[in-house]
This record gives sequence, C-alpha cells and structure tokens, in this order.
Amino acid sequence: MNVMLDLRPGLKRRIWAHLLQNGLEQVAFAFAGVAGADPMVLNPKEAYLAPPDDFALQTGDCIELGDEARARIIKHAWDTETALVEFHSHPTDRRPAMFSGSDLAGFAEFVPHCRWRLRGRPYLALVVNPVGVDALVWTAHPRSPIALNAIRLGYGRRIVPSHRTIAAI
Ligand SMILES: [Zn+2]
Repeated sequence: MNVMLDLRPGLKRRIWAHLLQNGLEQVAFAFAGVAGADPMVLNPKEAYLAPPDDFALQTGDCIELGDEARARIIKHAWDTETALVEFHSHPTDRRPAMFSGSDLAGFAEFVPHCRWRLRGRPYLALVVNPVGVDALVWTAHPRSPIALNAIRLGYGRRIVPSHRTIAAI
C-alpha cells in the first residue's frame, strides 16, 4: 500500500521553521483530509504549532505533550473530521532521520488510543532533523506501521523519508 502526504510549500516552511527553531525538540500537528485507498493521500488543511505550555516535558532529546494538549488536539481532529499528522524534531541529530526507542514506546501507547477515538482514521508520524525526515503510518493494525512513500510539495518536488525506522522494526 502506498501513502503520500501532500504539503503546500508555505505550510511546509512554517512547520519546519517551528520544528527547527532552536536546540529543543518541538512538536507540530497537521489536520488532514484523507483520500483514496492506494495510494492513500493525506492532505493537511491546517497546522498547529505546539507552544511550550503544551508540554509536560521538553528537552534537547525528549518531549512529551501534556494530557490537556493531547485531548484538545484529538478533539480538534474529531470536530474537523480529519486525520492527525504528528511532527516532532530531533534538532541536533545530523544523521539520516530516525525515530528513537522512546518515540516508538510513546506511539505504542498513544496511537491505538488516538485511532480508537478517531474511529480508525490513519495516523501519520514524522520526525524531522536538519538533514531529513523519517515517517511511519498506521492504517490498519495498531502495532504494525507502514512506510510513508513521500511528501509531495507540488510541481514534482518531493521529500522521501529515510525509511531507517521501518527497516529496523
Ligand atoms: Zn523523537
């Protein structure tokens, strides 16, 4: 199954500028329409750039959203009938992008809950660093994410994830 994320260049610039603004990990969400089965295309309508108040914990290599922020973000996806696209950054990592073990542990807890709340809509997570992106998509089994094929920026421009995480799990 193929999955694409269509991201307008202006929205991409805003999200990346937020994620890589300093040496701290940052988080953003996009609320996306979903079209097609294969390829499935996620098309964000709007973005939410999480401010410091949203976090229970925020350091150079660890970040955790507070319960209130999580609940509010899921509710907004529900109200707008969109799927959640989560972005977070590893701002000081210059190797090809890859989720950490603690990222994966967090997904094991959060993604099934979120997909249950959103009636099984897909969940896309991306990790962004100064050199690239990696991504995982949950479309069916809660413990078995699949790869995102590409982020399409329009005019044939695309970002292909490193796929390092999917190769390792
Ligand atoms: Zn991480």
